[in-house]
Amino acid sequence: MKRKVINSSRMPVYRDAGFELYDAKTTADAFSNETEHSRKPDLYIYSRYRNPTVVSAEEEIMKLEGSEWALLTQSGMSAIDTALSVFQHGKGTGLWFFFTEIYGGTISFIESVLKAKRGLDIQYFTPDNGNYDLVKFEKAIYDLKPEFVYIETISNPMLIVADVTGISDIAKKYGVKVVVDNTFATPWLYKPLNDGADIVIHSATKYFSGHGNLTAGVICGNDVQIMQSAVEYRKFVGHTLSPDDAYSLQTQIQTFELRFARQCSNAYKLAEYLDRMSLIKKVWYPGLINHPTNLIADKLFNKKGFGAMITFDLDGRDLAEKRIRRDKFIELVSEKIKLIPTLGDPRTILMPVEAVWGAKYPEPGMIRLSVGFEEYSELEGTISRALDSMKG
Ligand code: PLP
Repeated sequence: MKRKVINSSRMPVYRDAGFELYDAKTTADAFSNETEHSRKPDLYIYSRYRNPTVVSAEEEIMKLEGSEWALLTQSGMSAIDTALSVFQHGKGTGLWFFFTEIYGGTISFIESVLKAKRGLDIQYFTPDNGNYDLVKFEKAIYDLKPEFVYIETISNPMLIVADVTGISDIAKKYGVKVVVDNTFATPWLYKPLNDGADIVIHSATKYFSGHGNLTAGVICGNDVQIMQSAVEYRKFVGHTLSPDDAYSLQTQIQTFELRFARQCSNAYKLAEYLDRMSLIKKVWYPGLINHPTNLIADKLFNKKGFGAMITFDLDGRDLAEKRIRRDKFIELVSEKIKLIPTLGDPRTILMPVEAVWGAKYPEPGMIRLSVGFEEYSELEGTISRALDSMKG
C-alpha cells in the first residue's frame, strides 16, 4: 500500500514501534549508522532507539541551548542517569564530584543507586554561607582529580547561583568534565555550553513543557563521543521519550521564551514585594542584593532575569507559631496558589520546605514558590490579602 504524504505544518506523532526498512541493504545501512544519531539518511529503526517526533522536539531544544545535539528521555531523572552513565566504565571508573546544593531526587539517586547499588566513589562539595568558595573548589579538584563535577546553575530551595564560568575554567585546567543541571535557569537566562560545560541537563517537565502535563528530560552537548555513549545507554535501558509526550513538548516549547520571561518578571516583582513585608523574616531570590550570589547571578544572567523560584521564611516568636503561620498562609492562598510538588507550572504553586526537605532545611516557616505567568497584580493581591488577614 502506497502511503499518502500529508502537508502537515509540523511533525506529527509517529507511534510506530518499528519502521519499514524495505530490504537487506537499507536495513544494514540503518543499523550501521545508528549510534551516529545521523539524520542523513534519515532512517528510523525502532522507537526505543530513535523516533521522528522525538527528534523533532530535540531539534527545538538544540536551537534553545545552542547545542550540537540533544537527547530526550522520559524524565529529568532518566536524563541524569543517561548523562552520568557516560562516565561509568567498569572497575576503572574514577571519582565523581557533586555539589551538595542539587535536587533532592538527584541526591537520593546518588546515595541509593550510584553509591549503594553501583558502588561508585562519590564526594560532595559544600557551599560556605550560601556561596561556593572557588579557592576551596580548586584545591578539591587538584586533590581528588574527579572524572567530572556536577552542579546546578540555580540550586533548590536556597537558589544559590553557581559561578559556572569560574567552575568550568578550574575544571578545564585539570581536564575534568563539567555537567550542569540547567533546569532552574533555562537557556533563556544562561547557556552553560558556551562557558565550557560538557553536558547540560534539563528536567523538561518544568519550564520547557511549562504546563505541568508531561514528564520529560533532556541532555544536550557538543561532543560527539559523549553523544554516542549517551545514545547507546538511552537505547539499552529504554529511557527514550514517548512520541506523544515529544509531540506535546515540541508544541508547548514554542511559547517557552514568552512564558519564562514573564515568569522571571513576575518573580522579580514578587520577591521585592515579599522582602518589604513585616511578617516575612527573609526572602531568598538571586535578584535581591541581599542574596549571597546576587553578583554571580548578575554576571551569568546579564541582568536579563533571575529565575522564577522564590523561597521565603514566615516570621514567628517560636517554631510553633511559625508552623501555625505557614499552615494559615497555605490555607488562605489555596484557591489561587495550590500546594503542588513540582515547579514551572503556568500558575504560581507552592511547597512547604520543612515538610519536603526535613532536617536539611528545618525552618518551619519556609515556603518555596514556583512563580507562574498569571497577571502580576492578581498574584500580589492573593498574597497581600493572606498576609493582611494573618496580621489581623
Ligand atoms: N533536576 C532538577 C533541578 C529538578 O528540580 C528535578 C525535579 O524536580 C529533576 C532534575 C528531575 O526531573 P523529573 O522530575 O522530570 O524526573
